[in-house]
Amino acid sequence: MQGLVSESMSRNNPSSTTGQLSLATNRPSPLFIGSDIYRQPAFGFNHPLNIVRHSAVVDLLTILGWLTADAFRESEAATVNQLLEFHDRAYLKALQYADSTGSVEADVRERYRVGTFENPLFPGLFERAAMTVGGSILAAELAVEGHVVFHPSGGTHHGRPDRAAGFCYLNDPVFAIMTLLEKGSERVMYLDLDAHHGDGVEDAFYEEPRVTTVSIHEQNRWPFSGTRSHPHAGAFNFSVPLQFNDSEFEYLMKNAVLPLADAIDADALVICCGADCLAGDPLSHMQLSNTTLWNAVTELVALNKTTMILGGGGYNPWTVTRYWAGMWGRIAGHEIPDRLPSDARAFMRRMECDLIDVEDIEEQWLTTIADTPYPGTIRDEIKSMVTDARTHY
Ligand SMILES: [Zn+2]
Repeated sequence: MQGLVSESMSRNNPSSTTGQLSLATNRPSPLFIGSDIYRQPAFGFNHPLNIVRHSAVVDLLTILGWLTADAFRESEAATVNQLLEFHDRAYLKALQYADSTGSVEADVRERYRVGTFENPLFPGLFERAAMTVGGSILAAELAVEGHVVFHPSGGTHHGRPDRAAGFCYLNDPVFAIMTLLEKGSERVMYLDLDAHHGDGVEDAFYEEPRVTTVSIHEQNRWPFSGTRSHPHAGAFNFSVPLQFNDSEFEYLMKNAVLPLADAIDADALVICCGADCLAGDPLSHMQLSNTTLWNAVTELVALNKTTMILGGGGYNPWTVTRYWAGMWGRIAGHEIPDRLPSDARAFMRRMECDLIDVEDIEEQWLTTIADTPYPGTIRDEIKSMVTDARTHY
């Protein structure tokens, strides 16, 4: 199947960097994967992820009329047997036990990093995490059939085989990539645009020659890895300075990332679209606009590879919702309005976030979906990064 899909699509390569996506006529319609499980309270009081994200995206898309029933696929939770393909049995058992009892012993907290402020216990934790993995497995299966698949609840890129890390209990991008490999992909490129290094995914496939990982993330930020590339292992990192702007991002994509996809002749793309790289996110200092990110992803989609798009971090409910709702809008071919309709504006005004002061809520977050771009100077540091990377491909 994979071979047929790749072969049939490889010669039809529309390129569209602006405006609406030109999908190849032989490509089946894009699909959105979700679940009502994400409407349940999670992470507990005072955690950065205790904000509306997935449900807000679905609700805004519904208000806009952009998410039809035939484009939506309900995910199913991954089974323990599936999870064992990457995660350790003892860790899964500890996670299930902690979830069912609502408590962890000190040694379990220390060993598996659950029940901490970072990775708190909350009711339904295990099923929710397994649902995210199941959604990414489904996304990969559908992507192999030729659909461009968007699974915004995916992107738990810090999860480790034997412990939780960085708000991630399991690692769904790893399962997406493993599924693509099982289905016949031979050269997968994982592109991580979250503000944090995609460490869990890089490490998982460090020894796997069929997978190239690329991460663009902010310097001197947790988990403090990804400071350099490891070309022999197919692991490329762009650790960018504070206030990384749209012009710099476009430069990096055009001169380093797209040439790499070309050089490795990737047959599948997994794109992690963590929304914490957007200007206005309370946990990082990148200065990207959603429009520039949509353009980049659209350009990657137009390469006509097997393509799936995941979410990731993102701690400003307004910017997360606008980014991911607009991402789907672009993928599904909807025109992005200059101004949101009144019911959508009312919806955006009802959102709340403890991490953002009321006076810092920008008017455009409440009334529009597309950011005004944030162009800027392309710093020498970025140019050097590209020059260094290009010595390897
Ligand atoms: Zn992040």
